[in-house]
Amino acid sequence: MNISDLKKTYNYSMGAIHIHSKFSDGSGDIEQITKAAKKAGLDWIIITDHNLMEVKEGFYNGVCVIVGEEISPKDSYHYLGLGINKVISPKIGVENYINEVVKSGGFGFAAHPNEADYRKNKAKSIKWLDKNIVPDGIEIWNWFSDWADNYDDSNIFKIAYGYFFKHKLIRGPHAETLKWWDNLNNIKKEIVPAIGGVDAHALKILKYIVPVTVFPYEQMFKTINNVIISDEKIPNLFDEQKKYILNALKNGDNIIINRHVKDTIPLISFADNKIEVQLLDNAEIRIMKNGCMVLKEVDKGLIFPVKEKGKYRVEIYINQKPWVYTNPINL
Ligand SMILES: [Zn+2]
Ligand SMILES: [Zn+2]
Repeated sequence: MNISDLKKTYNYSMGAIHIHSKFSDGSGDIEQITKAAKKAGLDWIIITDHNLMEVKEGFYNGVCVIVGEEISPKDSYHYLGLGINKVISPKIGVENYINEVVKSGGFGFAAHPNEADYRKNKAKSIKWLDKNIVPDGIEIWNWFSDWADNYDDSNIFKIAYGYFFKHKLIRGPHAETLKWWDNLNNIKKEIVPAIGGVDAHALKILKYIVPVTVFPYEQMFKTINNVIISDEKIPNLFDEQKKYILNALKNGDNIIINRHVKDTIPLISFADNKIEVQLLDNAEIRIMKNGCMVLKEVDKGLIFPVKEKGKYRVEIYINQKPWVYTNPINL
């Protein structure tokens, strides 16, 4: 089923999270960003500038724009505060800003918690250092961090490869992040929700005197998206739509999908006694129970009978490339 078919049949919406505008270190204004989002087929986006919230929320070019904050100290613990009603300072310390986000009506996701210890390009890694500090949720996959972890700038050929074949550098969520996420889900009764982020900046750099936009917004918006599939119809009014989207993310009702690997949406349903996956083509489907793989199968779909209680989630790979991660669900 392709995206437009799916849209006719289900209440579904697709969005990109973790976007920087010109108010922090991005290059676009909201007009340019939402035009790009519209072209990429997105229904909603979440802007998270560093330590400020200057973009005004609302509908632009038919795209629902929600504004959060990437609470960003210099070296570590970047945190995407969503649904908050004021800017929260990174200076108060990570444990305090996690609490402050909740106090101001929101919830948060640890951003790019495990950037690589060693990067060939020497770009600084910003991590979630102490994993005992528990966030509300986790950005398990960040497109830009994934690229930067694997980008080699040691010679002109490798630089060119990194830009022209950028998608080949994408490896998927960091193993340590998935382990941390699964562990937290095993400890906690409720779900620790996950999102995927693009971390789009559309940086303009002056290269060989010609200004080029590195990773333009539209390209980034066609990579890691979050798809919300719900029984409830998507409200039309902004305030209600915003609430609907944020609630879905808080409850883990989204699946994380890299559209560059395949631009369709899998049908995945969780019922008390079975998990059902339907795809258009063969892919490697993994069923995870409490963080452990209980089934790995290459197929166009499957029905997995659930015999034991646990937190279940699904991962899907195409030609070894990570494509889809669902949130866990208590069955
Ligand atoms: Zn960051
Ligand atoms: Zn960022």
